Amino acid sequence: MALEACKVCGSLTSTNEEICMICGYPAKGNPKSIWVRWIAIILAASICLPLIIGFIYNMRAKDNPPQSLPAKTITS
Ligand SMILES: [Zn+2]
Repeated sequence: MALEACKVCGSLTSTNEEICMICGYPAKGNPKSIWVRWIAIILAASICLPLIIGFIYNMRAKDNPPQSLPAKTITS
């Protein structure tokens, strides 16, 4: 196991790694891996973004409850 300086960012990356762990540059001259990484990021974002938006929407709904809620009446 040896360390090799990345051609792009200059950080030391293990020669066992296919891409630089800092900038994602393919250290072994395999350009496909960087595209696979970006596709994975885009897919993850497209899945997580609606969840995050829905979460924020629910939080706002809790902070600002509708005014039309009927007041609770105490019955004894
Ligand atoms: Zn790098």
